[in-house]
Amino acid sequence: MTTDTLEAAQRLATVREAMGRAARLTDRTADDITLIAISKTQAADAIRPLIDAGQRAFGENRVQEAQGKWPALREECADLQLHLVGQLQSNKAADAIALFDVIHSLDRPSLLTALTKAMDAADRRIPCYIQVNIGAEEQKGGCAIADTPALIKAARAADIPLLGLMCVPPADIEPAPFFALLAKMAREEGLARLSMGMSGDYETAIMLGATDIRVGTALFGERPSAARPDPTSGRGMVRNSRAK
Ligand SMILES: *Cc1c(COP(=O)(O)O)cnc(C)c1O
Repeated sequence: MTTDTLEAAQRLATVREAMGRAARLTDRTADDITLIAISKTQAADAIRPLIDAGQRAFGENRVQEAQGKWPALREECADLQLHLVGQLQSNKAADAIALFDVIHSLDRPSLLTALTKAMDAADRRIPCYIQVNIGAEEQKGGCAIADTPALIKAARAADIPLLGLMCVPPADIEPAPFFALLAKMAREEGLARLSMGMSGDYETAIMLGATDIRVGTALFGERPSAARPDPTSGRGMVRNSRAK
């Protein structure tokens, strides 16, 4: 093992251990929860050690950035699973369908239409999460809480494989009530999966029912600072200063 791989393996083990502790409180184990390594702004060289350490599910927030990195990495490792966790423009729907295995950011009827069309054209059904703007924040992506039942209904009618709900709660405020609200919404709609929890709060999210956590910094270390600011996750940066 190289030093990079060893370090990646240690970070992975630390996160999986914490996942296990939180999961046991809900009668689950770490294996019941999907850990998605969020590799946005990380170069392929930073991603490879984590793949070598056994991580298989990765997430990106920009289609274009992912197109530049992942086709080559997929050739090196066949069983990778790639998740799109950032806002998606309708005109990139076809590109997203071609590259990703799961989409976490379905948040409006026009995008549902674009995704359905792209899936039909590619003859490929990609499972989706509906992203809910759980803190009713103006600048943030996600479907308004009040509009979510209608979007769920439309996705079901369009025969999109709908896995569950996803959220990024507001920054700098206790996230538990937002996670609990998302869990309640999913329960009421009969949706099984919850994509919630990041480096600073994934244990809380798991205790409140997360089935998929999206963890960047805790697995990769701080993101390279040249990165463009990401409107969906300013909170991650703030919280990371407190995270172990
Ligand atoms: C960046 C990002 C994450 C990971 O954030 P960390 O705090 O680095 O774990 C999770 N979810 C989304 C949607 C993101 O954009």
